[in-house]
Amino acid sequence: MTAADNGTTPATRPVIVIHDMTKVYLMGEYEVRALNGVSVEIDQGEFVAIMGPSGSGKSTMMNMLGALDKPSGGQYLLDGIDVSAMSDDELADIRNRKIGFVFQNFNLLPRVPALQQVELPLIYAAKRERSERARRALELVGLGERVHHRPSELSGGQQQRVAIARALVNEPAIILADEPTGNLDSKSGTEVMAIFQRLNREQGITILFVTHDPWIARHTRRIITLADGIVVRDEIVPTPLVAGQSKRPSDEALVHE
Ligand code: ADP
Ligand code: MG
Repeated sequence: MTAADNGTTPATRPVIVIHDMTKVYLMGEYEVRALNGVSVEIDQGEFVAIMGPSGSGKSTMMNMLGALDKPSGGQYLLDGIDVSAMSDDELADIRNRKIGFVFQNFNLLPRVPALQQVELPLIYAAKRERSERARRALELVGLGERVHHRPSELSGGQQQRVAIARALVNEPAIILADEPTGNLDSKSGTEVMAIFQRLNREQGITILFVTHDPWIARHTRRIITLADGIVVRDEIVPTPLVAGQSKRPSDEALVHE
C-alpha cells in the first residue's frame, strides 16, 4: 500500500542533492562554463520539468545527475552517497541499478525487435526472467501487442514508449529524460506524459525531464528553469495538468496567459 492509499503524507527524503555544481568544458584554449554553481534538492517521488533556453546547461545537468559525466566542482549526493567519490565501476553499477534514461531520439537499435531492446539492460538476469520482465515493462507502456515489432515498424511515439520500457525494466528509482517529447507530435507527447504521470503516481518513481514546451511542463509538479548555467527559477505547479484531460491552448493563448 502506498501513502496515497491510506491518506497519510508520504515521508519524503532527498534522493538527489547537488550543491554548487559546476561543469567546465575545455574547447582548445577556451573554457565553456556549462554549469556555473547549481544547487538543487529533489525528494523521492518528485516529478520535475527542467526548462531554459538552448545552451543554458540542461543536458549537461542531466548528464551529471545521471552520472554519465563528472562535474568539475561541487557536490552530488545520490541517495545519500557521494557520487564524486565513486570509481567508474561504481558509477556504472549505480547507473544500471538506480537510473533509467530516456533520450530525445529514442536511442533504439535499428533492426532489433522491441522485446530484445528492453531485455538489454537485464544483462545479469537469467534469460527466461529477462523476457518476462521485458514483456511486463512493454505492457506497462501499452505495447504488449507490439513486442516483436522493430523500430521501423513503430511510430515515433511507440518507439519512445519502447525506450521508456527499456528505462523501466530494471525498476529504477529515478527516470531522467532529455527532451523525451522533443521529436513527438502533440498526441504522442501527451501519451508519454500520461505514462510518466502513472509511473510517478503508482510506482513512486522520481522523474526529471527536460522540455522546451511550457504546456508539457505543466503536467509536472515542479518546474526548474536554468539560464547561463544557473537556476533562475524553481516553482511549484499549483494544479498540474492531467495528461489527456486538457487540450493544448493555442500558442497565442499561452503568450497572453
Ligand atoms: P542545453 O541542453 O540547455 O541546450 P547544454 O548543456 O547542451 O545546454 O550546453 C551548455 C553549454 O555547454 C553550451 O554552451 C554548449 O555549447 C556547451 N557544451 C555542452 N556540451 C559540451 C561539450 N561536450 N564540449 C564542449 N562544450 C559543451
Ligand atoms: Mg540539451
